[in-house]
Amino acid sequence: MFDIELKNITKTYSGSEESAVKNLSLTVKKGSIVTLLGPSGCGKSTTLRLIAGFERAEEGSIELAGKTVSDKNIWIPPEKRGVGMVFQDYALFPHLNVFKNVGFGYKGKDRAERVMEVIRLVNLKGYEKRYPHELSGGQQQRVALARALTRRPVVVLLDEPFSNLDADLRVHMRFEVKRIISEAGATAIFVSHDQRDALAISDKIVVMNKGVIEQQGTPKEIYQSPSNKFVASFVGQSNILEGKINEDNKSVLTDLGIIPSYSAYNYKAGEKVYISIRPGSLEIDRNGQMNGLIKELTYSGEFFDIVVEVTLGNGTCQHLIAHIPPEEVVKVGDSLNFNILSQYVSIIKYH
Ligand code: ADP
Repeated sequence: MFDIELKNITKTYSGSEESAVKNLSLTVKKGSIVTLLGPSGCGKSTTLRLIAGFERAEEGSIELAGKTVSDKNIWIPPEKRGVGMVFQDYALFPHLNVFKNVGFGYKGKDRAERVMEVIRLVNLKGYEKRYPHELSGGQQQRVALARALTRRPVVVLLDEPFSNLDADLRVHMRFEVKRIISEAGATAIFVSHDQRDALAISDKIVVMNKGVIEQQGTPKEIYQSPSNKFVASFVGQSNILEGKINEDNKSVLTDLGIIPSYSAYNYKAGEKVYISIRPGSLEIDRNGQMNGLIKELTYSGEFFDIVVEVTLGNGTCQHLIAHIPPEEVVKVGDSLNFNILSQYVSIIKYH
C-alpha cells in the first residue's frame, strides 16, 4: 500500500533547455519517512513542489492515498490534496501567536482540541500565546511542523527542515521530528542535501542527481552498497579505486594490493570493477600488508581524519582518506602500516 506514487514524471521549467526532473518514478509506503537527497539543483524541491501541487508536470502522474491528483487530464489544486508542508524558513505568520499559527486555516469543529493536541505532540504546551519572535529556532520549527499536521494530512512534505538549526539542536530535532511524524501516523517526504540528516531520519533514501534517481534504498543499503560512483562519494566519504575480482572470489586486486570484500562472490573472477573503501576501513596494524605516509591529519574529537599517501608498485601515489581512533599517537609525516577491513568495502559495477 503506497501513500504516494509518482509515475514517469518530467518537469521542464519554461525557458529551460534541460528538464529539472526526468522520467522520475517513486513510491512511498504509508507511514514511512523518505528523504530525497542530492546536491543543489538536482531536482529535489521541484519534486516536492510537484507533489504539493505548486508546479505541474508535463509528463507522468501523481497519486496521493490512491487518488490521482495530477496527470494529463486531472489537476487537483494544492489545498485539496491533503498535503502539509514545512518550509525551510518555517514561513510562520509573525503577527499570530503559536495557537493561531498552528490552527491557521483549520475550520474543523474540533479546532481548539485539535490545535492543543498537535501543540502537545510537538512539546510546546505552555507556549500557545507566544509569538514567533519569542521562540528559539527549534521551537519555531516545532510550530511549523504542528501547523502542517493540524489538518491530518495524507502526507507531510519538509523542505530542508534542519538547515537553519545549529549542530546540537539539529541532532536533537532529527530525533524529535522523527518521533512527531511517527506519532502523528503521517507519511513524510524530506528534501535534504545533508547525508547525515538523511541517514538518521529516513526509512528510505532516494539519491538524486541531475533530475534522475541514482539509487533508492534503506540508509544502510545506500551507505554500505552504493550502486555507483556518484552515490558512493555523495553519501559519506569514500575512496574509489579500480580493480579486478580475484580468483578466490573473496577479494579485489587493486594497485594498493589485495582488498577483501564480502560481495566479490557476486562477480566473475577477473571482472573489472570499482571498489569503494569507506574511511572507517583502515585498521592500523604493525604487521599490516599496506604501508603509507600520513600527509594530512585533523582531530575531530571522535577520530583523526587523515590522508595517507601510498606509493604504488609503478612509482605513482594513491591518496586514501581514513578515520583512525583518537587515542592513536600519530602526526603528519609518520609511516603507517595498515590493513583494509572488508566490512567497509563495497564493489561497484564498472561502467
Ligand atoms: P534542488 O532542490 O535539488 O536544489 P531544484 O528542484 O530547486 O533543485 O532545481 C532543479 C533545477 O531546476 C535547477 O537547475 C534549477 O535552476 C531549476 N529551477 C528550479 N526552479 C525553477 C524555476 N522556478 N524556474 C526555472 N528553473 C528553475
